[in-house]
Amino acid sequence: MEDIVLEDISQEIEDIFYPYVKIRSDTFTKHENDVSKFLMNFFGDIDYFKENPHHYGLFPIEDDALKRSVSWALIKGEGEDTVVLIHHNDTVGIEDFKGFKSYAYEPKKLEKELINYRENLSRKAEEDLLSGNYIFGRGTADMKAGGSIQLALLKRYSTVENFKGNVLVLSVPDEENLSAGMRSAVLLLDKLRKDYNLDYKLMINSEPHQRVQKDVGILSEGSVGKIMPFVYVRGLLSHAGKVFEGLNPVNILSEIVRKTELNVELLDFIDGEASPPPTWLYLRDRKEHYDVSMPLSVGGCFSILTFNKEPNEIMKKVKEISLDAFNNVIEGMNESFRFYQDKRNKKYKFLPWKSKVVTFNELHEEAYENYGVDFLKEYKKVLNKIINQIKTNEISMIEGNLDLVDTIFEYIKDLSPRVVIGLVPPYYPNVSNIYFDGLDDELKNISRDIMRCAKKEFNQEYVREYFYTGISDLSYSSIKNSKVIEKSLLNSMALFNELYTLPLEEVENNSMPCINVGPWGKDFHKLTERVLKEDLFVRTPKLLNYTISRVLGW
Ligand SMILES: [Zn+2]
Repeated sequence: MEDIVLEDISQEIEDIFYPYVKIRSDTFTKHENDVSKFLMNFFGDIDYFKENPHHYGLFPIEDDALKRSVSWALIKGEGEDTVVLIHHNDTVGIEDFKGFKSYAYEPKKLEKELINYRENLSRKAEEDLLSGNYIFGRGTADMKAGGSIQLALLKRYSTVENFKGNVLVLSVPDEENLSAGMRSAVLLLDKLRKDYNLDYKLMINSEPHQRVQKDVGILSEGSVGKIMPFVYVRGLLSHAGKVFEGLNPVNILSEIVRKTELNVELLDFIDGEASPPPTWLYLRDRKEHYDVSMPLSVGGCFSILTFNKEPNEIMKKVKEISLDAFNNVIEGMNESFRFYQDKRNKKYKFLPWKSKVVTFNELHEEAYENYGVDFLKEYKKVLNKIINQIKTNEISMIEGNLDLVDTIFEYIKDLSPRVVIGLVPPYYPNVSNIYFDGLDDELKNISRDIMRCAKKEFNQEYVREYFYTGISDLSYSSIKNSKVIEKSLLNSMALFNELYTLPLEEVENNSMPCINVGPWGKDFHKLTERVLKEDLFVRTPKLLNYTISRVLGW
């Protein structure tokens, strides 16, 4: 059977790859719909789908401002065992392509242009360009290469008589943005499982892998989680000449930043792997014009990558750190005040500040206690307005979130300084096969077997990692404790179930182990993005087919 599937597969992949790359599909734009049309034509031209028109289609993303869809196709063979192949069909933009924008999606033309420009590239990129071993272009590595391999394999499987097992391909938009595609695909997985009686055995993604050593490929049996706490600090405003009459929120937030940025207490590690430490992605005061007063409030958000943490644990930690930071600032202010009074021969007494940290939900409840339904009505009105502004790209999620906190403060009577913490979408759960109990031997040893296959076939080394740290849609392949997580998101994420939905229960009900098997690529998201031809056309398809065959028992 391997012969039928892999014979001349290089040509099959090439015929899909170049047209697939050529369709511009910048993330969070209407262009993503062009790729859906391409995929529907592709599936529609395959005899199997002409005979089984219900086995492929578009699954619209609910309430999507750009009306995007998940594209899917199912080869329904014998039995219930099902392998799910996922890839994202969006790419990042081409802002840094400068004069090369018009060639970004046409690798052969881009290559010619880049050769004239080669002195300006990094040495490695120049070397790879001249070697002819790589294909350059936006979306080549990330990830229309992996996508094309999956599509080519699906096409071949469709010709196999008495196919054993089932193979489902999901091609999703929005991965580079908020993963609206994959979050919606979870509902599709749930539906298809029921409609076709599928038993999901393994989810395979084909994101490109980056190498540490050039001869050693990487398989990932999981994907890092990502969670974004926001911090809003309300101070007490005063004139710059009367600093001790006010409390500058910039001071408190800076202290929180210092205590969280790259804080190793917030990173996870396991067996030689560690999640990258947290970093701040957005930070701004809420002042609209310059004047000589300190700002009334400031806010921002940071990203925490996880191997083994749930939202409530993160929120607890952020609260602790914020309280600590607040206390430090009060102490520092008192020291400064004492010195200042001393120099002016004035009496010193403790400043009146007390540290206070509340969650978004606690602040919301306080406003409700103060003003009841009047508050709720106004809040709902503002929330809807903000949701619209985010949908139309007028403001970002984080700005919308901070605007909501501002709105609630209109209904807060106790205006002593305080810190408000919460979460901003998106949320990517950490997943890894190590968290699965009782996996079949085939699945438990899948990486080891793929490594052996690569060694035997190509004399190529591969290593296995527990977590892909590039953040991927595999985060939605499984979850435990969906009820508990849902509750913590409801408690701390203002936009959860309003603008941002995540079908946690469906993720849990369709949980399956996962793996990333993809080609070697470099410089993702950059002008010199490129993928290794040998992997795209020969090696990765063979390894993917091998993986699928192991799971489906051929
Ligand atoms: Zn990607």
